[in-house]
Amino acid sequence: MLTGRMMDFPLTLTHFLERARTYFGRSEIVSRQPDKSLHRYTYADFYRRTCKLAHALARLGVKPGDRVASLCWNHSQHLELYFGVPAMGAVIHTLNLRLHPNDLAYIARHAEDRIVVVDRSLLPLLEKFIASVPSVEHVIVIPDDGPTPEGRLDYEKLIAPEQDSFSWPQLDERSAAMLCYTSGTTGNPKGVLYSHRSCVLHALTLCMNDALGICETDTVLPVVPMFHAAAWGMPHAGVFTGAKLAFPGPHLDPKSILDLMADERVSLAAGVPTIWLGILSLLDQEPKRWDLRAMRTMAIGGSAAPPAMIEGFLHRHGLVVTHAWGMTEMNPVGTLARPRRQHEHLPQAERLALRATQGYAIPLVEVRHVSDSGQVLPWDGETMGELEVRGPWVASSYYGGEGADRFTPDGWFKTGDVVTLDAEGYVRITDRSKDVIKSGGEWISSVALENALMAHPAVLEAAVFAAKDPKWDERPLAAVVFKPGQSASREELATHLEKRFVKWWLPDDYVFVPQIPRTSTGKFLKSKLREDFGDHLVKRQRSNN
Ligand code: AMP
Repeated sequence: MLTGRMMDFPLTLTHFLERARTYFGRSEIVSRQPDKSLHRYTYADFYRRTCKLAHALARLGVKPGDRVASLCWNHSQHLELYFGVPAMGAVIHTLNLRLHPNDLAYIARHAEDRIVVVDRSLLPLLEKFIASVPSVEHVIVIPDDGPTPEGRLDYEKLIAPEQDSFSWPQLDERSAAMLCYTSGTTGNPKGVLYSHRSCVLHALTLCMNDALGICETDTVLPVVPMFHAAAWGMPHAGVFTGAKLAFPGPHLDPKSILDLMADERVSLAAGVPTIWLGILSLLDQEPKRWDLRAMRTMAIGGSAAPPAMIEGFLHRHGLVVTHAWGMTEMNPVGTLARPRRQHEHLPQAERLALRATQGYAIPLVEVRHVSDSGQVLPWDGETMGELEVRGPWVASSYYGGEGADRFTPDGWFKTGDVVTLDAEGYVRITDRSKDVIKSGGEWISSVALENALMAHPAVLEAAVFAAKDPKWDERPLAAVVFKPGQSASREELATHLEKRFVKWWLPDDYVFVPQIPRTSTGKFLKSKLREDFGDHLVKRQRSNN
């Protein structure tokens, strides 16, 4: 091999941070606070505070590779953690504030977090599990909704006396930058360890015109939580380009988002379909109230964006949706739905239909789909198979080594999504191989609910599956078989589950059946349950109205 003679300049988030300081000091970062006021500062402030944070963490003993966890909403201090922690060589681990304390405890223990940085407003949640995470040495409180309680480290007081420049270490681009956990739909959550290189290449690609075209003149609003899959790389791409950033804090209701979009002249926003369904409905009610002329596109993904919603935004409000598919295991964007040059002359309905697919792979990501026996399938738009992906921001293994069966011997990652691929490479998700329930963009584990239900003394068998819901997309419904001669009321079953799960995980209803349908290998056949009862909640709502 004749080796190329170019520099091996490392691809690190430190470069993003330094670039922001050098060129974009005057760009703004705006964060909505719990009291709804807006906090503003510049990238110059952000850079100085990030350096101070790194000094403070180093003083507390944080070393390269250590995990520093965050339990925070989307705001500027979270951005400081997103950059300060990796740039000093440590790893930012984002904890999902919507999880049950038991799951959070498991995840923090698995990650062996040494420090947790928490919003004061989320301290009650942290206190429910922190005692069972022995690795945590310090809790740092961001005083978002009031002063830090006595005896706790206060983020602001901690960083205030520190120097506002930091001599960042030279990092290997393959070193870990960020740790994100999957939502544990089958068994325990699994850790995905993003590298500096994967974050950089992913952000760079998002900035391409053929992807989301993020640039310096944009104002980017990540509605998608920074605790879920790196907020789809928006914070990375934002700082890299020097775009203005607008963070919603804890206020994710449609009016607050629309106010932020209009007041800050947001040009790119990103979030799950549930959020945008609410926004569309409010816009339909008051179409003239918000000036959204600055808006270039809304990136929507995490679960399927309904075609009627994409069309509604475009036709009634002139707003363009970019439908995206991705997953925690890939930093996370894999495909984006954009019509191409050859589609220019298609009728509008067909172009819209393309926008409603999951799209085609973004550069550096490769896709294929395979049959149950692992045979690679044709791209004919009809044959269904499991989607597999590979590329520089696809996990090569899970942190801790679990789930090795998701990685094929020839170097692909099995996504668990069942898809068709058409001749032009457009992916359409037809089902999920795992019977997960996605409510408002967040996973609910059917297996965990079933196991708990089956622990009830009167229950013989239980299967929890997704029923359609107009607001949350999907909600859990439980099919229950009682032991002979026994029974329990809906209320009793709900009380039984309440002790173990957060409220939004609880099934919306229970159907009592003589037996659960099964597959040939004895597994619960949930597709049959969905077929029989998928409309149950919609029908129940109709009869209540
Ligand atoms: P997560 O790791 O929580 O981000 O979830 C990833 C999973 O969400 C994927 O494997 C898909 O099942 C689902 N998903 C993500 N984006 C989409 C989309 N645009 N359409 C349908 N499902 C999606």
